[in-house]
Amino acid sequence: MRLARALDAATREALVERMRFYRELGLTEFYRRPVEMSGDEARAEREFDERVAAAANEPVMAAGEGAIAAPPPSVVQSNFFGEEAAIRSKKGIVAQPEISAAVPAEERAAALKAIREDLGDCTRCALHKGRHTIVFADGSATARLMFVGEGPGADEDAQGLPFVGRAGQLLNNMIAAMGLKREECYIANIVKCRPPGNRTPEPVEANTCSPFLFRQIDVVRPQVLVALGATAATYLLGARQPLAGLRGRVHAFRGMSLIVTYHPAFLLRDPRQKKEAWADLQIAMKELGLKKAGTRE
Ligand code: SF4
Repeated sequence: MRLARALDAATREALVERMRFYRELGLTEFYRRPVEMSGDEARAEREFDERVAAAANEPVMAAGEGAIAAPPPSVVQSNFFGEEAAIRSKKGIVAQPEISAAVPAEERAAALKAIREDLGDCTRCALHKGRHTIVFADGSATARLMFVGEGPGADEDAQGLPFVGRAGQLLNNMIAAMGLKREECYIANIVKCRPPGNRTPEPVEANTCSPFLFRQIDVVRPQVLVALGATAATYLLGARQPLAGLRGRVHAFRGMSLIVTYHPAFLLRDPRQKKEAWADLQIAMKELGLKKAGTRE
């Protein structure tokens, strides 16, 4: 369909972002109108908001106690919006490597360091050309809970750490709402270098970089892995499916439980989906034996 007039850049960008929302939800042909939430939905969203807000004020999130300080508000990590390309592309996804032998807990930090050294000043794919910093990972080598996103954004590229922009702040609060601290988790991405313009990684880039991620996963061997967004789900599970068909259940993955949910950047742009994300995180909490913040069943 041709538009009767050219759109200005801002409108076009807004339209593109809206379409990416649709892809995130796994929908391709529909129109949108205001939707009234049911009482249950409204209560679920309120509960999520309250827990995230409460968690954000917890001392565990304060600087100076070994915790990670809240990063300043900055650019939204929007590169996860590659769902559109990830779902559209028909190019292949490389098969998962075989699961490596388990590494004793006390040797995991050294094993991760060895993977980082293997990676070196990596130029294995074209993404190295535009990066400032390789964003390897952040968190505990013995984490029970791991998060995997799509790739670094501008803040991550500048700081060399995953999830440090506004989306990272929300992820921190979501982790705290689960009763955990960020430093108890392990956080990484499908690709370790920022794609130009925060575009979705091309299959060749994701397939080139992800073997290092699989090695990290096998070393940390978390009990639960949460895939944040469609690109992470695609390359971890090895199949392209709309996010809507992957959420809300536990996937068996390399001897652990994998749960798929929305990318935090998506939740920043469409807060109505927070109740769905909270439902996914509650599945993760159940798998971890966490009943509510700070307690176990
Ligand atoms: S994205 Fe991964 S494979 Fe590509 S250059 Fe960066 S570290 Fe290497």
